[in-house]
Amino acid sequence: MTYAIAVVGAGPIGAATAHELALRGVPDVVLACGGPDDGPAAYPQSGGSVCWHRPDPDKAAAIEETASYLRSAVEAGAPIRVRTAPYLLLETGVLAPALNVTAADLVAHLTASAGRAGVATVTTGPVTAVRRAGPGYRVIGEQSTVDAQVVVLALGTGNLALVPDLPRELEKRQLFVLDLPVDGRRADLPHIVAPIGDGYAYCFVKEFDNGLRLVLGQEELVEDTDTTGPVDYLDALHARVDTTFPFLAGARAERILWGLDWTTKAPALGGDGAGLITVNCGSAVRACLSIGRAAATAATAALTRVG
Ligand SMILES: Cc1cc2nc3c(=O)[nH]c(=O)nc-3n(C[C@H](O)[C@H](O)[C@H](O)COP(=O)(O)OP(=O)(O)OC[C@H]3O[C@@H](n4cnc5c(N)ncnc54)[C@H](O)[C@@H]3O)c2cc1C
Repeated sequence: MTYAIAVVGAGPIGAATAHELALRGVPDVVLACGGPDDGPAAYPQSGGSVCWHRPDPDKAAAIEETASYLRSAVEAGAPIRVRTAPYLLLETGVLAPALNVTAADLVAHLTASAGRAGVATVTTGPVTAVRRAGPGYRVIGEQSTVDAQVVVLALGTGNLALVPDLPRELEKRQLFVLDLPVDGRRADLPHIVAPIGDGYAYCFVKEFDNGLRLVLGQEELVEDTDTTGPVDYLDALHARVDTTFPFLAGARAERILWGLDWTTKAPALGGDGAGLITVNCGSAVRACLSIGRAAATAATAALTRVG
């Protein structure tokens, strides 16, 4: 069968796009999913920070939309791990409202809600190509193919493998999950952002499968140019942050969350000008609903054009 729209990639953006198309009642939509090892996936590594204290009102509104969606879903009983933990901006003393979400739970919830509203799911395995086929496109995966009039490629940085001429502005992101105990009082720690020298460090509490953990990240404090894998530069980071965060002294990394992400934090929609659409955004967990809405609008407009 030829679907009207195939959303390819079930990360935060793909899942939110499928969810939005379902809300709009667009028929014959399919979400083409790989599996966890099918391509680079940023969302399982995400810190999950959703803070809408931003100078840019559009960004603030997009992030607040995700927060508000999460609050309503959790209130309605959705199994999404969300913690209310404000940002403490040490430089200004501002305590800003924020949430921390387990991104995999949000993706699973959006995917399930799209499915309940009639979006089909196909497991393609790793997608290796998208080709023109008749009036539409064929999405070629190692396990199966999907035909559709319009294709939304939402493979995160994996989009680069299929559409190499995308503007390539990627950055490595890395977070240390520390081996310190998080007792009742520490569990209430805000997400602390501290300026140090020319950069800053941040520390927050996050829920993992094995319980609450302290997580430490940095920008511009320790150089890490290895984009092939995680690098344990925690000793160098301790030397820079332990005066500000004395409670982290001596902590070791239980694991390192890492991945590549787009540097641009605004949704970038591209494609071939016909029925193939690419959608990418850095820090997309926190704004995925609004990005999904933009991608759904582009997809329905393309469907009208080609249909
Ligand atoms: C360490 C770290 C911390 C972060 N912290 C935050 C944060 O606090 N807040 C925030 O908002 N964002 C954060 N991000 C960024 C956020 O995770 C990404 O911006 C977001 O996940 C991008 O969403 P996406 O749907 O575009 O891509 P992805 O999350 O990468 O999802 C893409 C999906 O497509 C699949 N895929 C890729 N290639 C193929 C292929 N060829 N075939 C089949 N399937 C494929 C992947 O397996 C995945 O399922 C962080 C990222 C990292 C690495």
